Amino acid sequence: MADDLFNSFMNGPDENGRFGDFGGRFVSETLMPLILELEAQYERAKTDDSFWAEMDFLWKHYVGRPSPLYLAERLTEHLGGAKVYMKRDELNHTGAHKINNVLGQIILARRMGKSRIIAETGAGQHGVATATVCAKFGLKCVVYMGAHDVERQAPNVFRMKLLGAEVVPVTSGRGTLKDAMNDALRDWVTNVRDTFYCIGTVAGPHPYPAMVRDFQSIIGKEVREQMAEAEGRLPDTVIAAIGGGSNAMGLFYPFLDDQEVNIIGVEAGGKGVNDKMEHCASLTGGRPGVLHGNRTYLLQDDDGQILEGFSISAGLDYPGIGPEHSWLHETGRAKYVSITDAEALEAFQLCCEKEGIIPALEPSHALAHVMQIAPDLPQDHVICMNMCGRGDKDIFAVAKHLGFEMDQPG
Ligand SMILES: *Cc1c(COP(=O)(O)O)cnc(C)c1O
Repeated sequence: MADDLFNSFMNGPDENGRFGDFGGRFVSETLMPLILELEAQYERAKTDDSFWAEMDFLWKHYVGRPSPLYLAERLTEHLGGAKVYMKRDELNHTGAHKINNVLGQIILARRMGKSRIIAETGAGQHGVATATVCAKFGLKCVVYMGAHDVERQAPNVFRMKLLGAEVVPVTSGRGTLKDAMNDALRDWVTNVRDTFYCIGTVAGPHPYPAMVRDFQSIIGKEVREQMAEAEGRLPDTVIAAIGGGSNAMGLFYPFLDDQEVNIIGVEAGGKGVNDKMEHCASLTGGRPGVLHGNRTYLLQDDDGQILEGFSISAGLDYPGIGPEHSWLHETGRAKYVSITDAEALEAFQLCCEKEGIIPALEPSHALAHVMQIAPDLPQDHVICMNMCGRGDKDIFAVAKHLGFEMDQPG
């Protein structure tokens, strides 16, 4: 059941940006007017047909939407149970779902008359998507990135530079994604007039979690239509990997009020969810606190210090999770599980061998959970997992784990 505030799981958040006890706007007074202005402008754009017409045109001609819904026949046969479909968002321009959201925020920024876009990035995927769309529109782009990540993610740093973005290594704090988020917020306050802050997942202060979800919901909307065509009904189970939770929210949202659809989010279990925190499972292994302007489940120590997670997949090591997921977890509408590095690596290889698709390590986590549940489900049970990114970026990490020697670029 949705809690008292809502008669539908799709009505959230409330006017204060709350999903039950989660979300909100925990920002300094100097940031508040910016957040309120953004919210007003987004509310206006959301009901403007010309805004969505521009989105639809670019989703089609620049991103390559709709992405296919693909029946993984050999994988289904191999697992011997439920029918497995993949939503092929790895076929988008730039190789993942991130651009769905970036496009929306940058079209909004242009409508607001902003000429400078800032973003923060961890693994660099959101930075690359942002730099891409900024190049397309001729906008100045500044990407904050933890100094440690700048070193680890050299190919993405170079991509951003090729695309004309300025990459700012962040050395404050511990030089991690969390510190990059703080610096981006600081930049925004300092450069209010011309700057738009483009957040890469369903996190940050309200209205970001709802806005990013709305842009990513194109994934679930397409799945509804495509599944109606393929199977004549809704899927029985939808599954997605969770870093901050944007590709998952995008798939889940259009199904929230269909109680017959099981919803499963898969967190990165790293070396196993234990108290050594060698994982990134904020829901399964963390507890509520405030980070990045919202209240949600976080990885933190006993003193409330945010901890850096650990995962084979750089794109999943966000120390929190979007507040809407925390709410769906507490209300029981969605279920959250975790998958270890070793299980994800096995799924990665099976997907290559059975389907001729090299998946990113993030969706390999979702696929690993599919591998665990599909064999025990009947053959008329339909699963849809989100193949939210392609694996080209991950082949060096995988080679290393499999003991295959090759020179790593950068
Ligand atoms: C960034 C990224 C993720 C994690 O982000 P979410 O907001 O949880 O979707 C997952 N998969 C891929 C391919 C990514 O690039």
